Amino acid sequence: QKVPFLTQSDGRTIPQIGLGIYGPDDAGTADAVSTAIEVGYRMIDTAALYQNEGGVGEGIRRSGLPREELYVTTKLADDSHGYDSALAAFDASLRRLGLEYVDLYLIHWPLPGVDRYVETWKAFERILADGRAKSIGVSNFQPRHLERLAAETTVLPVSNQIELHPGFPNDAMRRYDSDHGILTVAWSPLGRGRVFGNPVLDGIADKHGKTIAQVVLRWHVQLGNVVIPKSVTRRRLIENLDVFDFALDAEDMAEIASLENGVRTGDDPDLYNG
Ligand code: NAD
Repeated sequence: QKVPFLTQSDGRTIPQIGLGIYGPDDAGTADAVSTAIEVGYRMIDTAALYQNEGGVGEGIRRSGLPREELYVTTKLADDSHGYDSALAAFDASLRRLGLEYVDLYLIHWPLPGVDRYVETWKAFERILADGRAKSIGVSNFQPRHLERLAAETTVLPVSNQIELHPGFPNDAMRRYDSDHGILTVAWSPLGRGRVFGNPVLDGIADKHGKTIAQVVLRWHVQLGNVVIPKSVTRRRLIENLDVFDFALDAEDMAEIASLENGVRTGDDPDLYNG
């Protein structure tokens, strides 16, 4: 399966589906990453918080793929906000990954109560200027946080990685991103597994001869999201990329929209302060 690329506001491109690898330790991560690359993944999403950047680097080296064919994202941990701390944390991430650069560096959470994301972003601008991150973006930012970056800094984030799945489609944030030229990357795209067993999704899956995971990932693709489902199982890794040979119709999309229940699986970015 060929995964399409979406174009960021800085002109660089990102594969629309990648591997999100929160959970496994370094050894499990290295196995999952090398398997994922082998079956066609070209984008990997990790974070300092996941404590597996070493495993991501190992999996990449094991795959033997030229670095420039991969898109690697990592994120600044919550305890590293601040200009100097962010620069030091980025150095440490690169060292653990064993890479010369990342494709995308994200502020993991805005931490509005800490209120250092503007200063942190200025360090990100420096990292970008040095070419050690090819692009910079944010995660879990709400409109007011993006407004402040726009008012007080120079470079706009290329993407905003937010919680987004059928139960919590995060429509207003998704629309804000798209109105401002920011790609939305959907985290917990399968609702951390909550989509499985849903009778509505099951019906749509039967209709197309696909699985629930494939229907939900296809829904994301048709909304224009970048999506980072997590799996460490070869069969599921393959299944989760195999969503480009069918399309959901308007009725399917409306049925999935009706599954919204407003329930997050993770923290509320306005309330979470690390
Ligand atoms: P997810 O929605 O990707 O669901 C993962 C669960 O679904 C796992 O239990 C997995 O075994 C199962 N699964 C995956 N494919 C399947 C398939 N085809 N059939 C059956 N089961 C399948 O949940 P997630 O791991 O929370 O989110 C994905 C990634 O998003 C993370 O690994 C991480 O990279 C990222 N993330 C980011 C943030 C953030 O704050 N930026 C927060 C949470 C997650």
